[in-house]
Amino acid sequence: MSVLVTGGAGYIGSHTCVELLEAGYDIIVIDHFQQSNIQSLNHVKQLTNKEFKIYHIDLINKDHLETVFLENSIDAVIHFASLKSVGESVHFPLKYYQNNIVGTLNLIALMQQYHVKKLVFSSSATVYGNTQEVPIKENAVLQTINPYGRTKLIIEEMLRDIYTSDNSWSITILRYFNPIGAHESGLIGEHTDGIPNNLMPYITQVAIGKRKELRIFGSDYPTKDGTGIRDYLHVMDLANGHVKSLNKMKDSKGLFTYNLGTGKGYSVLEIIQVFEKATGVNIPYRIVERRHGDSAVCYADPSKALKDLEWAAKRDIFDMCVDAWRWEKNLNASKV
Ligand code: UDP
Repeated sequence: MSVLVTGGAGYIGSHTCVELLEAGYDIIVIDHFQQSNIQSLNHVKQLTNKEFKIYHIDLINKDHLETVFLENSIDAVIHFASLKSVGESVHFPLKYYQNNIVGTLNLIALMQQYHVKKLVFSSSATVYGNTQEVPIKENAVLQTINPYGRTKLIIEEMLRDIYTSDNSWSITILRYFNPIGAHESGLIGEHTDGIPNNLMPYITQVAIGKRKELRIFGSDYPTKDGTGIRDYLHVMDLANGHVKSLNKMKDSKGLFTYNLGTGKGYSVLEIIQVFEKATGVNIPYRIVERRHGDSAVCYADPSKALKDLEWAAKRDIFDMCVDAWRWEKNLNASKV
């Protein structure tokens, strides 16, 4: 089975490429390499000892995208390609609507035209907004609080409409919780431009000495230690969720939505403790104001994915910290 992976050079995309190749799928990768680089795909080839075609294409350009459909026989698509910075999306909403929505429209129109009707879409727990009820189930109320989140929700709604109009499609929407960590080899991981927004890349940059201290955004949340709680999952477990989704879609039609998370929540202070234990490196921190838009607690009920896909996260928070740290050290030594 041949799978087109959009955004395959990115953080989750590159790890998923490894899992797909190791599971015996053939892949074709598209990326515009604005927030990723070709090196990660070279490492995917090195890790798996497999070759695949890479197209340097922006989904916004439908003519370029069509060449991929003309030149390849594609059975399914995994669609990661997306701009992903919440903060940037608030300042440049049009850029986000243009890139994420128009790019996806082009992709889906071509899939329809070329009769490729299996799609796994990379969504996010951001579509639940600041929900109060945890663990979060897939049927929770959907609400978004920033343009990035709205692009994910709009695409989800588009996909539901497409399936309603033509039920020969097979569509899986995966809502990711907080992916962290890196491939165990330390060869691929997350490339962060500038100051990291997310917790784990910030911690590893403090650990390596690139940043002085971690700023903890609020210690007055109604949680056990006052800091925010999230559902962190290892990026390789998340990658495996895509393979499990494709396996199921081989001979089934329908539109399915799954949470991919561990179902366990860790506070910021707990993450620091585990990281220090796993790496032996001290993380200095300072408590500052809450970050606008953050919720107190967010973790998944992943039982639907277990039941339908036979997927569950295997790696624990200790593994996640060890792998994130190995990656940061390699990145700093320019080994990757
Ligand atoms: N966080 C923090 N300092 C940082 C980055 C994040 O205290 O420099 C906190 C944040 O408030 C949240 C948790 O860490 O409680 C996870 O934040 P992240 O941005 O990684 O994920 P998200 O909030 O998008 O789920």
